[in-house]
Amino acid sequence: MPTYSPPLRDMQFVMHEVFKVTDAYKAMPRHAEVDVDTINAVLEEAGKFAAEVTFPLNISGDEEGCVLDKATHEVKTPKGFKEAYAKYVEGGWAALSCDPEFGGQGLPFVLNQCLYEMLNSANQAWTMYPGLSHGAYEALVAHGTDEQKKTYLPKLTTGEWTGTMCLTEPHCGTDLGLLRTKAEPQADGTYKLTGNKIFISAGEHDFTENIVHLVLARLPDAPKGSKGISLFVVPKYHVKADGSLGDRNPIVCTGLEHKMGIHGNATAQIALDGATGTLVGQPNKGLAAMFVMMNAARLGVGNQSLGLTEVAYQNALAYAKDRIQMRSLSGTKAKDKEADPIIVHPDVRKMLLTAKAYAEGGRALQIFGTLLLDQAHHHPDEKVRKDSDELVALLTPIVKAFITDNGHIATNACMQVFGGHGFIKEWGMEQFVRDNRINMIYEGTNTIQSLDLLGRKVLGNQGATLKKFGKLVAKLVEEEGVNEKMAEFINPLAYLGEQMTKFTTEIGFKGLQNPDEVGAAAVPYLRVAGHLVFAYFFARMAQAAQRAIDGGSSDPFYAAKLQTARFYFAKLFPETATLMRLARSGSQALMDTDLALA
Ligand SMILES: Cc1cc2nc3c(=O)[nH]c(=O)nc-3n(C[C@H](O)[C@H](O)[C@H](O)COP(=O)(O)OP(=O)(O)OC[C@H]3O[C@@H](n4cnc5c(N)ncnc54)[C@H](O)[C@@H]3O)c2cc1C
Repeated sequence: MPTYSPPLRDMQFVMHEVFKVTDAYKAMPRHAEVDVDTINAVLEEAGKFAAEVTFPLNISGDEEGCVLDKATHEVKTPKGFKEAYAKYVEGGWAALSCDPEFGGQGLPFVLNQCLYEMLNSANQAWTMYPGLSHGAYEALVAHGTDEQKKTYLPKLTTGEWTGTMCLTEPHCGTDLGLLRTKAEPQADGTYKLTGNKIFISAGEHDFTENIVHLVLARLPDAPKGSKGISLFVVPKYHVKADGSLGDRNPIVCTGLEHKMGIHGNATAQIALDGATGTLVGQPNKGLAAMFVMMNAARLGVGNQSLGLTEVAYQNALAYAKDRIQMRSLSGTKAKDKEADPIIVHPDVRKMLLTAKAYAEGGRALQIFGTLLLDQAHHHPDEKVRKDSDELVALLTPIVKAFITDNGHIATNACMQVFGGHGFIKEWGMEQFVRDNRINMIYEGTNTIQSLDLLGRKVLGNQGATLKKFGKLVAKLVEEEGVNEKMAEFINPLAYLGEQMTKFTTEIGFKGLQNPDEVGAAAVPYLRVAGHLVFAYFFARMAQAAQRAIDGGSSDPFYAAKLQTARFYFAKLFPETATLMRLARSGSQALMDTDLALA
């Protein structure tokens, strides 16, 4: 059976020693009072909730799955899930970083980020029920009418109701411009929606008395394609003027998908048969409203893989110290045993350190990203808000795709540490691999993320936002460039930083002549950009660790951090050379292949 211990020390290191988040919060009136003790106390309680309440349900939830009663269209979630959710609501966790205007606690997004990393480590399938509500909440905060906000936000804030994102239809997932669900305007200002949605996460369940579906659909006169999409809020039960529940709305679950992982989460087929909804935002501008939801969800998906990477690592590490097999190549290490623990073997250490480095790099990126979100929402200076917003937009596809691809590498490596036992269910490792696999697919596949990064976020503004990130890199290089102790971290970062502009320009020029060049380069490009970002964060973590050591600390945490950073730069970062070569190798070997693919 796997175990899980919340990585509080590493979270605190990143928040307090690397990014000094409370200094940043002092500048934001909403968070000026948030201090280190408050942050640490919340993290500790959040860790307890994840480890003690939802983690014990991870394997049973996977085995049991969800069951649909076709007669009533109700879904029964695995044993214990509903009760765990009640504890989550009772503990106020749903409201942690929601706006006090709607009953939230108004704490920084960074805290919610860490809460969710731990919940994802503990039980990704369970965590998706409350997790999806955040996208719906954000979309209604940004685009809802006063009436919609009054009706839905207080209940989404407390967690009494959950939210969903109903985008995908059987014939369209990536290309939502093809969607067919119809919305007919009614005399009373509402709309009647008819159509079929599939793959809707948490689309039906027994946690709450109501579910708030956010649904994309087309108005009768809508232009074709993505310019004709509108967003609607469609509750499972109508809500009366006094807030009590009315009749059942005909938006029902007609089937549940049988799938590779996240069995405890209900992936619902949803039929809308004249269901009543109200418009969110402007007609035909559903795409803009939808992106608020999707950006929140994309950061959330990166967090799912971060959580799985951490829990897989913890279990593989414990196993590698315990399992004895063969002797070390450099001579017996455990003389009292028949063989040495497998952790003595270089390749086993490589697998463990790969997962550790991807967890720690991912955590730093996620905490930095959510600190930017806090600034984008609550900093009094408009320029800081705008810059933060742009940087989050640049980092979002990297969070989604780089962290989930790394999660795939890491969970597989950790399963491999267990040898054949990793393939056997009772150890829990194969579940981490299976659960992680969807993270590379939903919320826009990782290919789509890479096109978003290279096409829209980088080339779309002639590299302006990338240059803003480049300035952060240049500042660090300037600060530490003469520090010999930091050279092994700073030199490769500086080198890649310098290369990035030329590399990007080259692909951009080729893309002007042939757009397939961008499509061919995008996936390796995103991985190179991911390494630039991770290299920056590893250098910053190494800087903080080195300063603590120079200041006299003998806490082994800092020496360990330097070792992990050293491993990252020596063994993971060098793949950037191959990736750049791949990105530069052009589209011809892919596109001039009609015979090969005949
Ligand atoms: C378990 C699960 C949960 C989900 N939860 C939700 C949910 O809550 N709400 C919701 O609305 N949807 C949800 N989805 C749907 C998910 O977001 C889509 O499956 C995903 O966006 C891909 O769409 P698709 O499956 O239709 O694949 P397609 O769009 O058909 O894509 C097939 C392949 O073609 C590639 N491709 C497509 N277009 C391009 C292009 N222009 N360039 C390069 N490659 C391209 C894709 O990357 C992919 O590899 C879920 C799916 C699953 C399996």
